[in-house]
Amino acid sequence: MAKISSKGQITFPARWMKIMGGVATGEWLFFHIQHANQIVYITKDSGHSDSCAQLLGQNFLTIPSDVRKWFKIQPGDDLKFGYDANREAVYFKKRQVLLTCPVCNELGSIGELPCFVCEETGSVEKEPWLNEITRLMMKSRSYNVSLSIIGHERVQENQAPVQLLVPKIQLVSSTYSTAILETIQDYYQGRVIREAIEDGSLNVQEYKTEIVSMLRTDFEKDSLEAWLSANS
Ligand SMILES: [Zn+2]
Repeated sequence: MAKISSKGQITFPARWMKIMGGVATGEWLFFHIQHANQIVYITKDSGHSDSCAQLLGQNFLTIPSDVRKWFKIQPGDDLKFGYDANREAVYFKKRQVLLTCPVCNELGSIGELPCFVCEETGSVEKEPWLNEITRLMMKSRSYNVSLSIIGHERVQENQAPVQLLVPKIQLVSSTYSTAILETIQDYYQGRVIREAIEDGSLNVQEYKTEIVSMLRTDFEKDSLEAWLSANS
């Protein structure tokens, strides 16, 4: 456990300092943000680091504010450490709350097929949709699924593409049925829409018809309608 204090500090777990070959009080540590897989490497040599901090007494370590900002790390959050054998480096990530997989409902499979949303584990981490989709894009290939985030679309041929109200999620596969793909696509599309409304980047009053038309299934349309009336 490495909980973030109100000053943005953790007590660096001794086990991980040992793996780094020991860290002395006053020694500088360097942070390397890996946006794609949402982790931060900590090294003793600077390399191309994004930021740095000194190990303080009692093994206190301040997680630099840019790192905290990028990963939305708040006081009370917990960091999870690991070791990357390929890079020979210790890393940490924000420990996420685990939720029951919304697609397979903890089964790890959808009918006879593996559930790729939770990678057959039955649970998913609670995180912003973009982080989840980015990871899913990389792993869905091994399940014979293609996932895309579409930002622009042509309304008419021979016309310049226009930016969509919110990114459109598209799932294509020859293995999974259309009904399954539409359910999963809608689950993510619904989250994209909800997050855009919550952060104020999407005006729901003005574009409600267009928003609802981005969804395929009645289930998600009803679920969004219910969410909208509860949040308006
Ligand atoms: Zn699942």
